[in-house]
Amino acid sequence: MQIKSSTLRQDKLVFEKPPLFEPLDPPYRLLCGPGPCNPHPRVLKALSMQEIGHLDSAFLRVMEEIKTLLRYTWQTNNEFTIPVSGTGSAAMEACVCNLLEPGDKFLVGCNGYFGHRLVEMGKRYGASVVPLQVPWGQVFSVEDLEEHIRKHRPKVLALIHAETSTGACQPLKEAADICHHYDCLLVADTVTSISGVPLHIDQWNVDAAYAGSQKCLSCPPGIAPLTFGPRALDKLRKRRCNVKNWYLDMNLIASYLNKDSNRSYHHTAPINMCYGLREALSLVAEEGLEQRWLRHERNALQFWKGLKELGLTCLVSQQYRLPTLTTIQVPQGIQATAVTSYMLQNFGIEIGNGLGELQGKVWRVGLMGYNSREEVVKTLLIALQTALLQQGYSFIRPSLM
Ligand SMILES: *Cc1c(COP(=O)(O)O)cnc(C)c1O
Repeated sequence: MQIKSSTLRQDKLVFEKPPLFEPLDPPYRLLCGPGPCNPHPRVLKALSMQEIGHLDSAFLRVMEEIKTLLRYTWQTNNEFTIPVSGTGSAAMEACVCNLLEPGDKFLVGCNGYFGHRLVEMGKRYGASVVPLQVPWGQVFSVEDLEEHIRKHRPKVLALIHAETSTGACQPLKEAADICHHYDCLLVADTVTSISGVPLHIDQWNVDAAYAGSQKCLSCPPGIAPLTFGPRALDKLRKRRCNVKNWYLDMNLIASYLNKDSNRSYHHTAPINMCYGLREALSLVAEEGLEQRWLRHERNALQFWKGLKELGLTCLVSQQYRLPTLTTIQVPQGIQATAVTSYMLQNFGIEIGNGLGELQGKVWRVGLMGYNSREEVVKTLLIALQTALLQQGYSFIRPSLM
């Protein structure tokens, strides 16, 4: 029967209805790549809870709980600690567009892929960007940083605490001390470190940090923690020109999300993603940060031991190696992508290929959040061994050498 509306003018449809698809049914995967990792079952449940309005007092309570839990997870007292609507890159861009003004000197530690992303963003907002380089897989020494800060006198230095493309962990504390001596802000990318490796925003004097939900927090991607300390807020307040990104303007966001503001509408918060993050952060608090850091370390150590037994080597020296993401060197004669495809097709396990400079040279294995478990480590090692054998890899056990 033809349905006719008497009030709405309807043109005849030009595009036909597509064939009906099967009900959505994504395959089960064990996600041990650079992210996302598998969400915790309680987080998945939280995501499907019923909708409430974004100005409903019940939602405001969820938002305040998220802020409180984030402060614990980051070990900070920063009042301005919020979830940004978007993925980790949105919170990254929020740091760049709020804390830099055109012409500001912006020093960026580029020891992997994500430093380059910051460089790219900095340029778009008119900052005078100075990329610092060390080979991928290495970290910046205090001496190196001091020399460049003294030479360039930047307004902001950005460092990647956990470089997911290389698996290296950049120490931050000494870097922050040097920054403040030269009146420079330190911004830290903690996307792959938050809740997975020791991180103390206030004790280390980090001025601004951002993170993501889909790595060690075991929540799906789509919401991104952000924190600004007093020096960062001061820089934001003293800006001469307005923030060149309306959606990420933290002055506007503050009057939407701050408890004491009038909660004026800016954009609709992604309600269910907030539920997910709330639950993910609750799980961090229930476990306890120290215990969670230790769990990540314990499982990583076991994984590295297993790799050694397979005759495989890691790219990063153990001193700076992230427990949350391991880069394994691809042995001579093995095609990297053949191994990752084999693992996905035969075991339903996702591990990552090398990114940028390291493409074809390493595999990236994440043991993050919910997936940092002993049985996951064992499963991974067996699957990797099988995939390697399939590719004609011959094991030379160190014990036989
Ligand atoms: C994943 C990641 C990002 C980007 O996060 P998206 O959620 O992909 O936008 C930024 N920095 C690091 C170190 C990451 O690992």
